Amino acid sequence: MSICSECGGKCCKHFPGIFHTEDFQDVEKEYDPKIMCLDFWEGEYEDTGVRQPYFVRMRSVKDGDRVANGLWYGECANLGKRGCKLPRKRRAAQCNQLVASADGNCTIPDKYTKQELVRAWLPYQEQLKKIRER
Ligand code: SF4
Ligand code: SF4
Repeated sequence: MSICSECGGKCCKHFPGIFHTEDFQDVEKEYDPKIMCLDFWEGEYEDTGVRQPYFVRMRSVKDGDRVANGLWYGECANLGKRGCKLPRKRRAAQCNQLVASADGNCTIPDKYTKQELVRAWLPYQEQLKKIRER
């Protein structure tokens, strides 16, 4: 049995994975509200002058039918009884980049931390606002 099967998806039960901009060719066309949700960084992002920038993550059971939700903690809505219901290519970068560890200390490469992923989304705020207003 794999490390993740044994664990049963603790990461997925705590927070849904965040997408990288590189997961999309055109986020406005490919955004799928059935499995994704907009989230936002609380307050100003570092010293950029950008307040509450949006980013895209997997949908959580706590989102209900909200288009955007500032989530601190919540199980991914795509988690089934036997693990993730989605094929790898439909999962967020953070889902695919998490490095499993049998001792529970799973790690994420620097490029895929929440802070860095939100930074990647900064140039896409107009597209994400259009999704927000649909
Ligand atoms: S990445 Fe880590 S927390 Fe997530 S399912 Fe695998 S072992 Fe569990
Ligand atoms: S999409 Fe799948 S792998 Fe990613 S957080 Fe949700 S259940 Fe876990």
